[in-house]
Amino acid sequence: MAKVTDIGPPDFRTMIPPVIAKNYGKWKYHERLRPGLLKHVAESGDALYTVRAASPRLLDIGTVRDLCDLADKYCDGHLRFTSRHNIEFLLVDPDKIEPLVRDVKALGFPVGGTGRCLTNIVHTQGWLHCHTTATDGSGVVKAIMDELFDYFENEKLPAYTRIALACCGNMCGAIHCSDVAIVGTHTRPPTRIDDAHFAAWCEIPTTLASCPTGAISRHPAAKSVRIEAEKCMYCGNCFTVCPALPIADPEHDGVAIFVGGKVSNAKTRPRFSRLAIPWLPNNPPRWPEVVEAVKNIIDVYSRKARRGERMGDWIDRIGWPSFFRVTGIPFTDKHIDDFLGGLSTYRTTTQFKISQKGDHHGQSDHSRDRTENP
Ligand code: SF4
Ligand code: SF4
Repeated sequence: MAKVTDIGPPDFRTMIPPVIAKNYGKWKYHERLRPGLLKHVAESGDALYTVRAASPRLLDIGTVRDLCDLADKYCDGHLRFTSRHNIEFLLVDPDKIEPLVRDVKALGFPVGGTGRCLTNIVHTQGWLHCHTTATDGSGVVKAIMDELFDYFENEKLPAYTRIALACCGNMCGAIHCSDVAIVGTHTRPPTRIDDAHFAAWCEIPTTLASCPTGAISRHPAAKSVRIEAEKCMYCGNCFTVCPALPIADPEHDGVAIFVGGKVSNAKTRPRFSRLAIPWLPNNPPRWPEVVEAVKNIIDVYSRKARRGERMGDWIDRIGWPSFFRVTGIPFTDKHIDDFLGGLSTYRTTTQFKISQKGDHHGQSDHSRDRTENP
């Protein structure tokens, strides 16, 4: 018998509601009854209702206990968090829906985020936790969501809309497949090197190896390293392994905005987002420039796109020049690689196609290897 360990996630089948276990893989259809309320119907005729509420992502233990109490009261103890920090209460008794919604709202959590609503904004750690940040996570998202809150509670958008924030280019939030992606951006190399502490805090081999562009070299006299600024792309990777190379810069760090990404749906392929605004200032506590820019993009999309069109599908239809024109966003030299050079150097979809030998159009490197070196 295999040894029981605490490595890896527990088996999800031990935690799903009985109605899901009973009808696993046999769901017939679902309906969106109203914003924040879904109904899934199984082939057996069983129905499962989902009430979706937003969470602020960072929850204290008292709040988690309050949410669990509601799950005990209405959902036989079952509750789930979505990948975008929504809380989903799963019920089989439709008579419990309204009392549950009342209790959820009384706790201060809004109900919505399904269908053609703006879903909860996903974000990374920000100043609260991570050392590599170029901007905050929860602070920026709170300021944006306060402005766009109406779109969370009401289905006023052309299609499902996702906004995501990563507080540096490491993008541990995987935001590149969101309709609007907000990225904290460093714009200066980490040249304020703390030679006095380098030997105590850092290792030279790992620091050299951390740089994807080879910009870091040894500096034996100082028992430290030096950075060739022209080669640096401000990724912050070296600071992650070596605290003596601080990259944060309160004046020049800022926020970039990308648009048009999505994972696949039945209509169109998955796609990565592209640069819309290269830099906006960090202006806490309410980031007015970032809020205004995101609101403008969402408002224009909401007015101009056809029903069912995701942000990227809308831009595909009208073309990028028209996107920049109708949103009033200037197209600058900073955009050029993302729209010209980038086309030949980046994969712009996550779809793979294994094609015949000699046909390299649209192939991944992996598929090329397979066709040329069987
Ligand atoms: Fe840290 Fe960057 Fe991830 Fe933000 S995106 S949590 S700064 S690694
Ligand atoms: Fe290299 Fe990135 Fe550090 Fe620049 S910020 S030196 S590119 S690891």
